[in-house]
Amino acid sequence: MSRKFSGDRILFATHNAGKLEEMEALLAPFGVEVIGAKAMDLPEPVETETTFVGNARIKAHAAAKATGLPALSDDSGIEVDALDGAPGVNTADWAETGNGRDFVMAMTKTHDLLIASGKPQPHTARFRSTLVLAWPDGHDEVFEGKIDGQCVWPMRGMQGHGYDPMFMPDGYDITLGEMDPAEKNRISHRADALKKLIAACFG
Ligand code: IMP
Repeated sequence: MSRKFSGDRILFATHNAGKLEEMEALLAPFGVEVIGAKAMDLPEPVETETTFVGNARIKAHAAAKATGLPALSDDSGIEVDALDGAPGVNTADWAETGNGRDFVMAMTKTHDLLIASGKPQPHTARFRSTLVLAWPDGHDEVFEGKIDGQCVWPMRGMQGHGYDPMFMPDGYDITLGEMDPAEKNRISHRADALKKLIAACFG
């Protein structure tokens, strides 16, 4: 039996503006106010684990401890089959420049490696999201979501964030970068994980 969330404020342990915007929209129907890590001046913990769940746990527990609020975290990324699952947990790292993140650079690297692999299209891939809801007393609940699709090139669309412009979900002929945000929030990996969290911890 999962622990229930009761309250009207949840801390979302992310400094990623795109993820924060998505989570605010996803939780708005439940009357829950989402507070971002930047607004609480929380430091960004180092993600030392090698799995999504390990890193999501680090972020959620650090935020719950620091604030005394139940804290939600997301660790996510894209797994490309022809690259043996890379970039995976290193998805954000591929965008690191030492002076902020550059996702055009990260997507170009992904595409270049796909070409170098010589593997035929479709270049199947999926986004995964692991959500952890942690309480200040150390309890947590873990939920996993995914969305299957393929990598396409050139990049298409200005919506969304991260690798959205190069990812076309199964059943669509547009990328997540071209998709209306409300539609993305209906089908995304984070929405998939959040549906499971809401069923288990809300209501
Ligand atoms: P994290 O903050 O360590 O979980 O990094 C996850 C990275 O995965 C983000 O910085 C994005 O690059 C990528 N990512 C996660 N979710 C999405 C998404 O919905 N669209 C595009 N990229 C995403």
